[in-house]
Amino acid sequence: MEVSSIGIDRSVSAVFPPEQLRDALTDAVEVAVIDAGNDPLEPYDAVVTMAYHESYLEGVHWIHSIQAGVDRFPVDELRKHGVTLTNSSGIHGPAVGETVIGYMLSFARRLLPAVKSQTHREWSPPAWDDAYTLANERCCIVGLGTLGRGIVERTSALGLNVVGVRRSGEPLDEVRTVYPPDDLHTAIRDSKFVVLAVPLVDETHHLMSTKEFAAMRDDAILINVARGPVVDQEALGDALEAEALGGAALDVFEAEPLPEESPLWEFEEVLITPHCAGFTEDYYRNVAGLVRENLVNIDTGEEFVNRIV
Ligand code: NDP
Repeated sequence: MEVSSIGIDRSVSAVFPPEQLRDALTDAVEVAVIDAGNDPLEPYDAVVTMAYHESYLEGVHWIHSIQAGVDRFPVDELRKHGVTLTNSSGIHGPAVGETVIGYMLSFARRLLPAVKSQTHREWSPPAWDDAYTLANERCCIVGLGTLGRGIVERTSALGLNVVGVRRSGEPLDEVRTVYPPDDLHTAIRDSKFVVLAVPLVDETHHLMSTKEFAAMRDDAILINVARGPVVDQEALGDALEAEALGGAALDVFEAEPLPEESPLWEFEEVLITPHCAGFTEDYYRNVAGLVRENLVNIDTGEEFVNRIV
């Protein structure tokens, strides 16, 4: 494969200005900002994008997704057309890890109700036994890849008692017990925090639903930084309504943006962020690093990093 020109699709502007990435790559390759959703696709060898557009099948050899999740790409179709797909796995650990710590502290140190009270100019201290510290709380991290490890590192540093779930069930440093997916209920049962960091695939669709919420502690906090459909959102609403869960911090939703009429907006103990857990001013630099690495690999005939197809 030869890649001498790259189009950066405007869809990346959901995360950073496309011009920033263009300027960061301009010394390595011919690069331009494109709008594949609206304009006919010019003949670029490769595209860097957040959205998938069918026009990519007409001549593009390589698509790089600026996200780690590739659930929006038709993987089989790309394979059939001989188009290479790479993702941005590996860059989100620190940002998502810190966001998850932020969520945990918001619940434990009662910052969530304080911020809500502040918007009404209300001086409203928590009950004496409402606040707690994170040390020694049990936390179950479902998915121990880039995101999961970023979360493990930071939760361990704060003294949480960390267990995890991963497809292979293989042990990992700083994780006291790693469970295989079949033991999910055992893993989540006694955990104060259950953090979701798995890709959205058939096996993880509605991984967390009525039975899982019933298995969790009724003061447990569910944290979802994976993808919306990993959680059965209606069942989550029911569990919160029934006070069968303590609360939730949600970055991703079955429909995004979260519709105004969603009941999730209303719960006192729900913290909502607009799919930005991985945001950082360094995001475009990190993506540029991956694209550059693969440009070198193409030149030297080595395998792509983060290749999905
Ligand atoms: P990785 O591929 O690095 O890690 C995925 C982890 O999930 C692995 O530990 C894998 O197990 C585990 N896993 C896969 N299937 C299952 C299953 N059925 N049950 C339990 N564990 C499973 O991915 P990343 O950490 O980079 O990203 C994970 C997902 O997070 C992405 O696909 C994306 O959807 C989402 N994401 C969200 C962001 C946000 O802003 N909210 C930012 C970045 C990513 P094993 O280790 O055994 O293979």
